[in-house]
Amino acid sequence: MHHNAAFRCFAGCPGRYLLTQPIYRCPTCGGLLDVAHDLDALRTRTPDAWKRLFEDRYRRGPWPLGSGVWGKREWVAPGIPDDAIVSTDEGGTSLLRADRYARSIGLDELWIKQCGASHTGSFKDLGMTVLVSVVHHAVRQGLRVRAVACASTGDTSAALAAYGAAAGLPVAVLLPRGKVSTAQLVQPIASGAIVLALDTDFDGCMAIVQRLAADGVVYLANSMNALRIEGQKTVAIEIAQQLGWTVPDWVVLPSGNLGNAYALYAGFRMLKDLGLTTRIPRLAVAQAERAAPLYRAWTTGQREVRPITAGDTLASAIRIGNPVSAPRAIKALDEMDGVVEEATEAELCDAAARADRTGLYTCPHTAVALAALEKLERRGVVRRGDRVVVISTASALKFTEFKVQYHERTLPEIESTWANPPITLPPDYDRVLDALERHAAAMT
Ligand SMILES: *Cc1c(COP(=O)(O)O)cnc(C)c1O
Ligand SMILES: [Zn+2]
Repeated sequence: MHHNAAFRCFAGCPGRYLLTQPIYRCPTCGGLLDVAHDLDALRTRTPDAWKRLFEDRYRRGPWPLGSGVWGKREWVAPGIPDDAIVSTDEGGTSLLRADRYARSIGLDELWIKQCGASHTGSFKDLGMTVLVSVVHHAVRQGLRVRAVACASTGDTSAALAAYGAAAGLPVAVLLPRGKVSTAQLVQPIASGAIVLALDTDFDGCMAIVQRLAADGVVYLANSMNALRIEGQKTVAIEIAQQLGWTVPDWVVLPSGNLGNAYALYAGFRMLKDLGLTTRIPRLAVAQAERAAPLYRAWTTGQREVRPITAGDTLASAIRIGNPVSAPRAIKALDEMDGVVEEATEAELCDAAARADRTGLYTCPHTAVALAALEKLERRGVVRRGDRVVVISTASALKFTEFKVQYHERTLPEIESTWANPPITLPPDYDRVLDALERHAAAMT
């Protein structure tokens, strides 16, 4: 069986381009690209045979097919030979039921897809393994690449730097100075990437890296590059697989540059087109109120997202005012009967703290999704009996400052209602006993 995939224009211009070509925009209209798969070839395997194949490989191998991404290689990037694949055994992340939290917000069935439980601590690994593997393959076929580069709000650069280092490819990352967490900043530094901290925001970094790519100086690793979407779409496939090849009623996702919203759609669409599932879930895109250009457009019925200057938000990875994948997200919302909701800083802090008290440990972006979900439930858009999956995009361990400041009550303008600071005591039995009793009394 021969599977095939190629770049094509997202807006429908004619033309097909090899995945190994360094091409990021349609040469005809200048718009975004998409990866087109040969669905007829894929249909020569039955839905049940695909399910069996995916189950057989899942978290087992043989290397690298135990990866959640490469276990679905025929649907992702066929034609990349095994020895060109650069993997960190990404994907295969847990889907856990958050019953106590669900009950606290009036829902019966809520699942968290833990995409941050990954090599570099965010879902960005899923797209990056595909992009770096394709570049690795292309370089071995003779493509000259001075550096693979990205603009980043932190997590993309961590993933690119790690996969680039694993492949032995030079990496350059452009970051907005002072606007990423310490953990995020140190990741590309440790991986040996050239780290350029620029006195601007993400959108300013993005403008420069796009120009470097257009001039042929670097290979562009941002999610404007459709290869990233192909890896990220496996989240949808994994969710269906983990739910016994069914889909939830809702998927809730924190979004910034909006590539991942489209990736979810692409995954669910392919599952349905190839007969593994029978429907597509609804999509709720969650944005931070200070960086919500899609929310503004969608809720006022506009089909185009007007760029804004994004304000300061604790959800730093989604502080984006000019989302590159806006047309892709509009398509996803159209096809998934989608909604867009926003969350304020106070709302995201409160949701994170309450969710953590039910055993979760939420990054600020996942908290934006939870806060948005709570609002949608209150408005009756999401109903009690709906089966909901929230995409957790990063590990909260990368955002320790956020947690520490909340519990130290030092976040400006935030009332830390659920702060739980440590109690400092002398090593005295009675004082310890007294503190335990007070705490128990306060909790009842
Ligand atoms: C990148 C990122 C997002 C946003 O994803 P987009 O595809 O840019 O919308 C959300 N959360 C975290 C933690 C991220 O790193
Ligand atoms: Zn075009």
